Amino acid sequence: MSWSFETDPEFQRKLDWIDTFTREEIEPLDLVFRGAGDPWDPESPAAKAMAPLRDIVKKEKLWACHLGPELGGEGYGQVKLGLMNEILGRSRFGPSVFGCQAPDSGNAEILAHFGTPEQKAKFLQPLLDGKIASCYSMTEPHAGADPAQFTCTAERDGDEWVINGEKWFASHASFSEFLLVMVVTNKDVPIHEGASIVLVEKGTPGLEILRNTAVGPYVEQGGGVHGYLRFTNCRVPAENLLGEEGGGFLVAQTRLGGGRVHHAMRSVGVLKKAMDMMCERVKSRHTKGELLADKQLTQEKIADTYTQILQYRLHVLYTAWLIDKYKEYNREVRKEIAAIKAATPKVLQEVIYRVMHLHGSWGMSDETPLMTMWANIPELGVVDGPSEVHKITVARTVLRDYEPSPGLFPTYHTPTLREAALKKYGHYLED
Ligand SMILES: Cc1cc2nc3c(=O)[nH]c(=O)nc-3n(C[C@H](O)[C@H](O)[C@H](O)COP(=O)(O)OP(=O)(O)OC[C@H]3O[C@@H](n4cnc5c(N)ncnc54)[C@H](O)[C@@H]3O)c2cc1C
Repeated sequence: MSWSFETDPEFQRKLDWIDTFTREEIEPLDLVFRGAGDPWDPESPAAKAMAPLRDIVKKEKLWACHLGPELGGEGYGQVKLGLMNEILGRSRFGPSVFGCQAPDSGNAEILAHFGTPEQKAKFLQPLLDGKIASCYSMTEPHAGADPAQFTCTAERDGDEWVINGEKWFASHASFSEFLLVMVVTNKDVPIHEGASIVLVEKGTPGLEILRNTAVGPYVEQGGGVHGYLRFTNCRVPAENLLGEEGGGFLVAQTRLGGGRVHHAMRSVGVLKKAMDMMCERVKSRHTKGELLADKQLTQEKIADTYTQILQYRLHVLYTAWLIDKYKEYNREVRKEIAAIKAATPKVLQEVIYRVMHLHGSWGMSDETPLMTMWANIPELGVVDGPSEVHKITVARTVLRDYEPSPGLFPTYHTPTLREAALKKYGHYLED
């Protein structure tokens, strides 16, 4: 039997190194490079600043750890990745410096599984090397959480697929070398059998970026990184359809499952950073003759925060452990991924609000990172599917293991149970 909450000392040494490196070398990037696409855009000035840091990470053998050795990663598995990500989550640049940033990490997995040797040479290798960016485009302007309403199609014409339709919130489309686009290839069957993923190279005629939408109020309109795309008779070669025709959602599962867990792992990092700020603050601020830390109402906030973060963190690591155990996204794994996906915005909302509140006016000023953390919470509630949809997955999977009551009274009907129990143990009362 193995059931351990310990990190082996050798890996702990790596984590300690990552922690120092993140605090000293990566977190300062957040204070200098504030453009919406800076951590991902290979042409941004931040890319030059990240380059030497990436070299150090590669030398330390910590680059692209989500991938197996055959793809240039260390194949650490999800638990180790979780422990790393909860440090990297402290900075917007952490994942990019370590080569495990979304959406590139998931897109690389799709190409590795389903790309032709030519596609791998042209796109996968430079992506793994951190030289290009990539985009995953599924959401449409009129339909996100309900794929049955997708209307962007690809029709076969000789050796090509011809794409027509619109896509929405395609992150990083404007600086990506290629896009993986979910398209309807057969309208006459349910969407989960009629959708496919096609690779569209940057600059393909017929692909237009209508505008770039931003998240948050402080980016100039048009200066965001989430593309509103239009495809008009956009032709791609037949071999650009990845996986089976009609198997788009199976292909997508390769990235979405992992991606959701990685968001959660990084959120642990955000939560811990917020908790550190809270504890420093309450041990520094006096009011009414004592430290905030000495007030019982503050202590309750500390205790609640500590407990919530620990519960969430253990759930995330447990999910990572399940993925390592099964090495696939089976039903049990999908249930836990959906549960932590839905839990993420909730725990962030409660903890970060509390930390901001304890900082008073400072907490909502531009002189702490708290307001930025706060502004990022809503996106975690919708990106990769809204919480409601994930809760439905959890509830359905949980309910699968239950049957309705066999008759008028439930299986836990006390008088019926007592009658049976008396038959078993009643004679002791008589004795
Ligand atoms: C920062 C960011 C980056 C993104 N990047 C990408 C990307 O790179 N590629 C991409 O394809 N998409 C991307 N998206 C889009 C994201 O995947 C969608 O926003 C998400 O799937 C929800 O779709 P929607 O926005 O159309 O909301 P809708 O589908 O319109 O849902 C709106 C709301 O309706 C409610 N709702 C929806 N379904 C149900 C239900 N079944 N039961 C009860 N209530 C429900 C929920 O409250 C939900 O939030 C990104 C989004 C954000 C915020």
